[in-house]
Amino acid sequence: MTGGLADVTFLGTGSAVPSARRWLPSILVRLRGEYLLLDCGEGAQYRVLRAGLRVNKLAAVLVTHLHGDHVYGLPGLLESLGMWGRSRCLEVWGPRGLKEYLEAALARGEVEYPLKIGEVEPGVVLSREGYEVVAVPVEHKVEAYAYVIVERDLPGKFNERKAEELGIPPSPLRRMLIQGLPIKLPDGRIVTPQDVVGPPRKGLKIVYSGDTMPCEALVEAASRADLLIHDATFASEHEEEAEASGHSTAAEAAECAAKARVKLLFLFHYSNRYSDLSGLLVEARKIFRRSYLSEDLLRITLRRWGTDSLMVSLSKLGG
Ligand SMILES: [Zn+2]
Ligand SMILES: [Zn+2]
Repeated sequence: MTGGLADVTFLGTGSAVPSARRWLPSILVRLRGEYLLLDCGEGAQYRVLRAGLRVNKLAAVLVTHLHGDHVYGLPGLLESLGMWGRSRCLEVWGPRGLKEYLEAALARGEVEYPLKIGEVEPGVVLSREGYEVVAVPVEHKVEAYAYVIVERDLPGKFNERKAEELGIPPSPLRRMLIQGLPIKLPDGRIVTPQDVVGPPRKGLKIVYSGDTMPCEALVEAASRADLLIHDATFASEHEEEAEASGHSTAAEAAECAAKARVKLLFLFHYSNRYSDLSGLLVEARKIFRRSYLSEDLLRITLRRWGTDSLMVSLSKLGG
């Protein structure tokens, strides 16, 4: 998968307990040919199968916090990965206590590949060739983190037509220009990268809040993200309940999106009391126009367009 392209699939969008409509929170992100799993609510592995996805390229699991609705799917998935043929190491990151929880849950099971269980500190959790993941402490009833996935910036596009016009032969010279080096042609002319390479493009930025009350640190971390997926457990009429339980309303999610000037907001982690979510969407859109509802097995495809714009497509998986 090339740079500037990501798939985000909602495996479950509910909260606390599952329902016939919504499974428990779990999101699969595909970026630079790798998968990241954000939270792993009970049954997430069934949702992966239902969605027709193959997760053998799973690079890491990132757990926001240790409430059961976000982690009870993990022991089962970790065992299944081995049975599906995984042999290389898998990194699993989350707050303090994750290691103890998983070791206890897996004590009588068999995970036949190396597992690296890491306890998150604020800051960079994962640093890969094409992207990094940063953990941001948020405000919930227990230690909890948001995750900010930041793709590294992409080189500008090489203009083949211009290169032909300038008489640059298909040779290592073209690669040198892409890498930012001026070159000298056999006839003595000098060509600079600016002559044939467009401006660098911004890598994608995807933010997942996990469970949180309104949180200034998250607003800052989500600044100008392409996609923010935010806790929207309640409607405003239940604002007090949202505060008491460490969650956000849809309107508060929209306020975060507006302050952070993100491109897209997807509401997430709905209370089971709402069978119809249109009220949450109306509340959010009054504050932030580009608010949308996540739903189980919805996939968002994000493509960098130009230097900093975004092209979006949506598909529903699992028939
Ligand atoms: Zn939750
Ligand atoms: Zn929680």
